[in-house]
Amino acid sequence: MTANTPYAKTGADYGRTRDADASRGALVVAVRPDSPAYDAGIEPGMRVLTVAGRPLTDMTVWLWEADDETVELEVFDPSDETVCPCELERMPGEDWGLEFDGAVFDGMRTCVNACVFCFMTMLPKHMRGTLYIRDDDYRLSFLQGNFVTLTNMDDSDVADVIDHCLSPMNVSLHAVTPEVRRRLMGKNAGRGMEVLEQIMAAGIEVHAQIVLCPGINDGEELERTLTYCEEHPAITSLGIVPLGYTRFQHRFTSSYSDDPAAARAVIAQVEPYQERMRAACGRTVFQLADEFYLDAGIEPPAAEHYDGYPQYYDGIGMVRTYLDETRAVQEAEQERLSAVRSELDRRGMRLVVVSGMAARDIIAGFVEAKPLEGRVAGIKNNYFGGNVDVTGLICGEDLLAQLDDDLGGVMLFVPEVMFNADALTLDGYHQKRLVADLTTRGAETHIASTMPTDLLCALEGALGLAAHVHTAKE
Ligand code: SF4
Repeated sequence: MTANTPYAKTGADYGRTRDADASRGALVVAVRPDSPAYDAGIEPGMRVLTVAGRPLTDMTVWLWEADDETVELEVFDPSDETVCPCELERMPGEDWGLEFDGAVFDGMRTCVNACVFCFMTMLPKHMRGTLYIRDDDYRLSFLQGNFVTLTNMDDSDVADVIDHCLSPMNVSLHAVTPEVRRRLMGKNAGRGMEVLEQIMAAGIEVHAQIVLCPGINDGEELERTLTYCEEHPAITSLGIVPLGYTRFQHRFTSSYSDDPAAARAVIAQVEPYQERMRAACGRTVFQLADEFYLDAGIEPPAAEHYDGYPQYYDGIGMVRTYLDETRAVQEAEQERLSAVRSELDRRGMRLVVVSGMAARDIIAGFVEAKPLEGRVAGIKNNYFGGNVDVTGLICGEDLLAQLDDDLGGVMLFVPEVMFNADALTLDGYHQKRLVADLTTRGAETHIASTMPTDLLCALEGALGLAAHVHTAKE
């Protein structure tokens, strides 16, 4: 926090970490032709400074203030450095036609915590800088579903959430006992509970999360946290995910992945809460990450147990989804799957699909079964080490080191989830570089989603079968 922060602080001294000038507004990166913004003369490169008289600091302001059929803006034009008022009008339901550069425009709020399980502190030192940014921005909780601790929010932030009804919020809860929270998250942990209680009392819905660390917030503390959530109906889902750790730290040497009995014990501990919730309101609410079931050797519960998958992107319910989609595709698409296998045979090609070790057997249930009869190449994560084994964290150097040197006759599918928006793996390998290397080994390489439906479509596309079907119908 800097001494010249323009924002009044009425709470305790919790850090505010805005690093950009709020008066610069939002950069316009695209304007849809014939839209209200286009008709008003707004162009890419201009900056919207205010909306309805309010500084445009982030997309929550835009969504709130630009909700009517007219809106007044102040727009900065860098070509002549003028600021002009601008009124936009639209038809009911019409989009304004503006695309901004990101979701927050006055600087990301970073965290003021020191979580013992923080993955950022477990990274090797030489990775790209953006991976070390520890964001904890309540606006991104509402806009993008990021989990936030609420520990860096002052009273004006809390008022912003309540006044503008930023609901639901995704909140990292972890524990409820003050000493345990401090041990887990650091000295600001108390503020998180204060804010949580305030926003829940104001009617904000909360999706909460626990990172379960053996010996710290499991056992009796988990019982207390589950009870707290059961007593607060504003918490409509609680995701429980296991500790993950890399080899670049010394605090942890094991987790549930190394201890099936401990994983089974957690499942058994949570089940009574799930059952009470299902009896009381028809929803499970308490949801365990897929890893607990995989580690315990227990099949994940049925789809209806997941309440519509509110924490899917936190790794909760992906295995169930994959299993159900496998069954559905295998039942309904035998003809298409057989056509793929026949075409691979006709070309003399083998199918290989890359996966992290955690999901290897699940994906094999589709890829290695008849009629596809391909092979899943499980990649061990030596780069991060520890217990890191998910597909999204596979690194380029492990992929290249662990696939065969001779990939002649292989049609290879590499999961798209390994790459960020700039087509880079976590260790900085560009998609093109990986594909080029694998091509020199003889593989025909494709980057695709490896969900059953997506993979089948990608295979048909790669083999020219989709076009063939289309032409045949014509
Ligand atoms: S809130 Fe905790 S886990 Fe998240 S970035 Fe900050 S220190 Fe790391």
